[in-house]
Amino acid sequence: MNVELVNTGSELMLGRVLNTHQQFLCRRLADLGHVVSRQVAIADTGAEIQNAVREALGRADLIITTGGLGPTSDDITRELIAELLGKKLIENKNVLTHIEQFFAQRNRPRPSKTSVETFVPAGAEVFLNATGTAPGLAIKIEPNPFRPDKKTSWLVMLPGPPRELRPMFDNQIVPLLKREFAEEIFICRTLRSSGVGESRAQELVEQDLQPLVRQGLEIGYCARPGAVDVRLVASGATAARLIHAGEASVQKNLGANIFGFDDDEIENVVVQLLNAQKKTLALAESCTGGNIAHRVTNVPGASAVFLGGVVSYADVVKEKFVGVRAETLAAHGAVSEAVAREMAVGAREKFGADFALGITGIAGPSGGTVEKPVGTVFIALATASGVEVKKFLNAWDRETFKQVTATQALDRLRQMLSA
Ligand code: ATP
Ligand code: MG
Repeated sequence: MNVELVNTGSELMLGRVLNTHQQFLCRRLADLGHVVSRQVAIADTGAEIQNAVREALGRADLIITTGGLGPTSDDITRELIAELLGKKLIENKNVLTHIEQFFAQRNRPRPSKTSVETFVPAGAEVFLNATGTAPGLAIKIEPNPFRPDKKTSWLVMLPGPPRELRPMFDNQIVPLLKREFAEEIFICRTLRSSGVGESRAQELVEQDLQPLVRQGLEIGYCARPGAVDVRLVASGATAARLIHAGEASVQKNLGANIFGFDDDEIENVVVQLLNAQKKTLALAESCTGGNIAHRVTNVPGASAVFLGGVVSYADVVKEKFVGVRAETLAAHGAVSEAVAREMAVGAREKFGADFALGITGIAGPSGGTVEKPVGTVFIALATASGVEVKKFLNAWDRETFKQVTATQALDRLRQMLSA
């Protein structure tokens, strides 16, 4: 089955709005076994929309358009598609009632402009908008004159605002797809790793996967800040077997570098491990600026294991609140193994935690030296049996530097907890 997306909106082309519909719809459709084969984003001007939809109709079994169903002058998708298909726009009483109720419930007069939303192409299936006014629309094009073989296609039009599009797709469009298209078996499994770069990860896993690749398994790699995802994809009757075997092979070759699967984040894994072992964590963060605390506290259940942290950015704060000694700072500098060590030990003692991480580094762009270039980071992990410090070089922009460093720190803890 061939699926194509047409995202309309001049704001997308001007870079004012990120096209999150692409990600949302591709992900949802893939989960249903329908992998999108092509996606275009276009300005919402007449000729562009009609050209894009006409082209997509020439190829696809299912075309989904987003945006341009609203009441304003730039919302012209519905009219243009009706024109392209030679369908009249007919007033739909259910939509009118729905929109009238929408405004009545909010004690607001119904703007006369919303009348255009009540007109739908003849023969369209109408999906009332549970979180807005413009309905979604689906048209069965049978036969489809734009396809060389004239086979049937479905054209689905969804409203632009994400808070309208998402529930409409999940609650109203998925049932339509299940009714009209046989679900295809499609499995996508992501193994998430840390501590190895993208090329190294590939070197480690590729060879053993080759026999499975010859049987139809697809492999993909995705580098993220501090992590590399290995993606295994398979479809059809052998999908489950191929994914199962592929997963075992990657697990074997990446070993303890695998921290999770699919949507797992390293902080979720760490909180889970701490919870399971009934242990607590404290932090003394300098260059990560609270990023680790932020990520840990994003995890539900963090309160049971996370005691707190200090963003000890200035030397005086490292001394006063974490207990780093002035002599250590003077002798080694704030970015040093010795200071990272005292930060972790100090945080562990002051918070009374089982484990503490101390992180100090040079985010840049200035402040580097020959001995300690920009990107130098020391990550210390203090436990009941002592403290260990590791040095890294994360020469990235500041935001990426924080992400990568935080991931490395969390990963140190994860590796220790799962050892
Ligand atoms: P409305 O009734 O709000 O006018 P609409 O169906 O006409 O809805 P648009 O006008 O195209 O849709 O978009 C409405 C808003 O939805 C945009 O301002 C934008 O913020 C958001 N939006 C549109 N398309 C996308 C997209 N592809 N990804 C993320 N957000 C989007
Ligand atoms: Mg609009």
